[in-house]
Amino acid sequence: MAAEKKPITIMGAGLTGSLLGVLLGQRGYRVDLYERRPPAADTEADSGRSINLALSQRGIVALEMAGLMDDVRPLLIPMKGRLLHLEKGRPKFSAYGQRANEVIYSISRRDLNTLLVQEAIKAKDVNVHFQIKCEAVDFTQKTITLTHHSDGSEQTISFDLLIGSDGAGSQVRRSLIEHVGGRSESDFLDHDYKELEIPAAAAGGYRLEKNALHIWPRGQFMLIALPNLDGSFTVTLFLPKHGDPSFESLNNEAAVEKFFETVFPTALAEMPELVKDFFDHPAGRLGTVRCQPWHVKDHGLIIGDAAHAIVPFHGQGMNCAFEDCSELVRLLEEHDDDWATVNSEFFRIRKPNADAIAEMALENYTTMRSTVTDPKYGLKKEVGFELERRFPDQFIPRYSMVMFHTMPYSEALAAGVRQSAILDRLTESVDSIADVDWELAEKLVKQT
Ligand code: FAD
Repeated sequence: MAAEKKPITIMGAGLTGSLLGVLLGQRGYRVDLYERRPPAADTEADSGRSINLALSQRGIVALEMAGLMDDVRPLLIPMKGRLLHLEKGRPKFSAYGQRANEVIYSISRRDLNTLLVQEAIKAKDVNVHFQIKCEAVDFTQKTITLTHHSDGSEQTISFDLLIGSDGAGSQVRRSLIEHVGGRSESDFLDHDYKELEIPAAAAGGYRLEKNALHIWPRGQFMLIALPNLDGSFTVTLFLPKHGDPSFESLNNEAAVEKFFETVFPTALAEMPELVKDFFDHPAGRLGTVRCQPWHVKDHGLIIGDAAHAIVPFHGQGMNCAFEDCSELVRLLEEHDDDWATVNSEFFRIRKPNADAIAEMALENYTTMRSTVTDPKYGLKKEVGFELERRFPDQFIPRYSMVMFHTMPYSEALAAGVRQSAILDRLTESVDSIADVDWELAEKLVKQT
């Protein structure tokens, strides 16, 4: 017999918490969703968080599960590949996948979050409470200390099951780890990021190719740009914190202008407000959160960035968090809403996958800022696509596994190691795909 559905408290109505609220509401749960910020529609800007994000297959599957893709679709801009702005020559296009539908989608964080929160508000039995902050959780007494932003008052509420989706700096995680005596670490990169803008063209429309993710790879650092629906691009500079060049060294207008003139002249030409934006916008940190466990019996769980924040270079933080939500619902179905089992299974299944995508995301920083400029990398990518065409059941490039498929991230990571060895071998003494030994290729692919 199915267990009785316990009321659920979700802390944090960001991307993960709001989608989870919708999904649990659809399964007949009574949900109270708390968020420290005001509704997105009431705020000027989503300060300190990326303005747009890349949505891919894993996120789409979860949004489909919630029946929301028809509403999300008008917000999407397909990006078919990377447009590389090298130091010399014309921009070079590199497709993400070899099939026409293998694209990723740029979407505004604010639009998506607003849509999800609105859906949660509309859902029967889901109550969303804004401007209330979680200060502490007592997992023994099952109580949460909250503060109300409106008047600073404090309140203690009880819960049956608390799910923390309160992001990388999660208070729920801190309380949970302390309660169970677990481990938690946050590893920050020596690089920060800053968001800038390429506005829409004067006559409307896009100043750069619309359907691509633009990258200006420069070895130790890079600039990227993703399109927005209004014709603008959100540009992100990833740069060391210290040294030369660094956020520390770019400390006056002349230094910023000179840096962009020298290193990113083609981007600078499209950024009339560069200097203002540079000094108006904060630099953000880039980190990986690794912790365990993620749960307390049948009454506590952390999910999304709260459990496993990652660096953004594979465009998977939100996608992985959305996959958490769809996986949690799948487990609820499989285990008849028995939360003690669901929580421990969720941790057992998702933790190795979160660790795998964390590793691939870190690796992808080097790929994006540096390796993409190596002709051998381009050749391996071409050969990888050709292997996928010839042996579709045996070879799917790792990037495609992560972005266009839903096999566990840990399988993609392991397959990537085997693929790397095959691609190294096939390209070690050739400079063109025409010279690849396809008999050897077949043997190597079929051996693995
Ligand atoms: P969050 O988005 O951080 O939401 C947490 C929510 O909890 C917030 O609304 C917050 O206000 C609230 N909260 C926090 N503390 C409390 C508290 N104490 N009490 C009450 N409420 C609280 N992912 C992708 O998939 N694709 C991308 O292209 C991509 N690009 C990115 C680019 C950058 C620069 C960065 C930084 C991240 C990027 N990500 C991307 C990752 C993505 O942003 C995160 O994985 C995603 O936001 C996680 O959602 P979340 O709801 O778990 O956490």
